[in-house]
Amino acid sequence: MLFTSRPPNQLTALIQRLWPGRCLLCGEATTNKRICAACQQDLPRNHCPCPHCAQPMPAPAATACAACLHRTPIFSRVIAPWIYALPVDHLLHRFKYHGQLGYGDLLGSLLAEHLSTTLTEAQRPGLILPVPLHPARQRRRGFNQALELARPVAQRLNVPLESRRLRRIRATPEQVQLNARARRRNLRGAFSFRGTCPAHVAIMDDVFTTGSTAAEIARVLRRAGAERIEVWCVARAIAKTF
Ligand SMILES: [Zn+2]
Ligand SMILES: [Zn+2]
Repeated sequence: MLFTSRPPNQLTALIQRLWPGRCLLCGEATTNKRICAACQQDLPRNHCPCPHCAQPMPAPAATACAACLHRTPIFSRVIAPWIYALPVDHLLHRFKYHGQLGYGDLLGSLLAEHLSTTLTEAQRPGLILPVPLHPARQRRRGFNQALELARPVAQRLNVPLESRRLRRIRATPEQVQLNARARRRNLRGAFSFRGTCPAHVAIMDDVFTTGSTAAEIARVLRRAGAERIEVWCVARAIAKTF
């Protein structure tokens, strides 16, 4: 049974808790996973991402999208296997704002599966750094969604995960209402990194939207010695123009 139009509801979450062998999205029997093969197949894949920023492109492209050609991003590339659309957006929303950690575990595991099949040993970074929340916000939420997503990824790829040295030292207003330029201004000086950074690192976040947070963190990591900086996310929000 495919899940396409309606978000997962509390009933399906309850099904998963009561019968762990059932798909989290449709309730059908699964083997040992939290999602059945049909629902996994049905997730909105980011088929033709821009090689730099993962913006969905109309067809596989050798060159970057217009935005990246206009202004080369500071990070080497973004990996975001799915589009921020149903049901991925609802899963992320329920995970992030309703504390349904099972959905985070599902999405982190799917991302781990994707990365472990597409990256060779040599292509794996020396460190995974989840985007930090300001301590006050983390206390309110009770967890950092980027860290929760990073756990299954780090474990599956056998790459160290570090959540203390990269810190958000300044609380910033919510970015949602701001345009790209205002987002950049809003984030200046918001992060710090303690110590020396490995040459190849991956920043982990839930959704890639404008990339302003990742870019600000990348600037900090570059000053700490990083040369190749990737951004790994579950989903890519589609930019309005490219
Ligand atoms: Zn299913
Ligand atoms: Zn791009």
